[in-house]
Amino acid sequence: MAAARLAAPVKNETEEDLNPFRIAMRQFDTAADRCNLDPGLREVLRRPRRALSLSLPVKMDDGSIRVFEGFRVQHNSARGPCKGGIRYHPGVTFDEVKALASWMTWKCATVNIPFGGAKGGIVCDPHSLSHGELERLTRRYAYEIMPIIGPDKDIPAPDVYTDSQTMAWIMDTYSMAQGSNAPGVVTGKPTFLGGSFGRSEATARGCLFCVRAACAEMGLSLPRTTVAIQGFGNAGSIAAQLLAEQGARIIAVSDSQGGIFNPAGLDTVKLLEHKQKNGTVNEFPGAKSIPSEAVLAIECDILIPAALENQITLGNVDMVKARIVAEAANGPTTPGADITLHKKGVMVIPDVLANAGGVTVSYFEWVQDLQELFWDEEDVNRRLERVMVKAFSDVLANAKKHDAPMRTGAYILAIERVAKALVVRGIWP
Ligand code: GLU
Repeated sequence: MAAARLAAPVKNETEEDLNPFRIAMRQFDTAADRCNLDPGLREVLRRPRRALSLSLPVKMDDGSIRVFEGFRVQHNSARGPCKGGIRYHPGVTFDEVKALASWMTWKCATVNIPFGGAKGGIVCDPHSLSHGELERLTRRYAYEIMPIIGPDKDIPAPDVYTDSQTMAWIMDTYSMAQGSNAPGVVTGKPTFLGGSFGRSEATARGCLFCVRAACAEMGLSLPRTTVAIQGFGNAGSIAAQLLAEQGARIIAVSDSQGGIFNPAGLDTVKLLEHKQKNGTVNEFPGAKSIPSEAVLAIECDILIPAALENQITLGNVDMVKARIVAEAANGPTTPGADITLHKKGVMVIPDVLANAGGVTVSYFEWVQDLQELFWDEEDVNRRLERVMVKAFSDVLANAKKHDAPMRTGAYILAIERVAKALVVRGIWP
């Protein structure tokens, strides 16, 4: 199954290659061309260091046994332990996880936190599994990846359709096997189990700091901006709240089941309640229903793709009217669409920067766990702001220096940091 998915290049109607790993390599190559890297070193940085493919048998509630497919990929550990989330989704592929792992390497290096990159995934529809089935699947997965994870090896975290409960199960499975409590093995845990205050809001808060800096650069006043958000999960829904608190008008939102639009602005607090109650933003009172994809084409200042990969493509990029695209999702813009947006003068805040707030507070969580000393939320947010503001200005300066899009600016910065660590450590043996 996985091999078949791997072999077939996915193309859309514009003949764009949508394979996430090849996209990740293309993004890397675009920046690496400007880095004067040794060709051998470049090859090391392109590829994942280690990739684990798993078959996960689970006893289902009806007594049957089902085998799920799972992955954990470690892309690079030159700058520190590997770090990255675990995704539960029916569409997960090995190549997608490889891409996501490499994006974690460049993300951690862009914001200068001492981690490498990793990612995990299980091919499943978590909404169709019971709590017990999810727990058994998660614990089996944790057991299978145990040889390669650990607080100083590889530290998983939540991603699409996983949460603090998933992390608690992994932490418990690992701790039981070690014979001692090991909260530092995962981040994104509940706060009462060694989690950090501010972690669940961190991706969105980091995105807000980037958007604020981008507005200043583009001469926009954040409280007067209009915003469209694709995806209303952890990142999208909290970004909506935080931006609304700053006075921005959230005029369109979508999730996997549909979109809604109100040019006068959506009440984000009521919208979140509606989503929690109904499982979708659809049919939110007072808003007009629109197709999910239409959110990308809304006339607005700021567009936040906060769902999955390959959403802004050559096929729809001409419909994007926003001045700023802040990638709260990983990989939402294809390389072809990226070039078009840059030519149109749209500022794309790349995923490795725009959504790096999540892993940054994951880093804070890990530091707190190792010290067994916990910070209050104000302290966490203050430190997050410092990291994001610095990273944004470093990336922008690099982009300007190289006369390149922000993504290339970020990658050049990140590649130089990782390459330096690799060179000084040396290739062994
Ligand atoms: N899944 C998040 C990301 O893509 C967070 C990863 C982490 O905290 O390790 O950045």
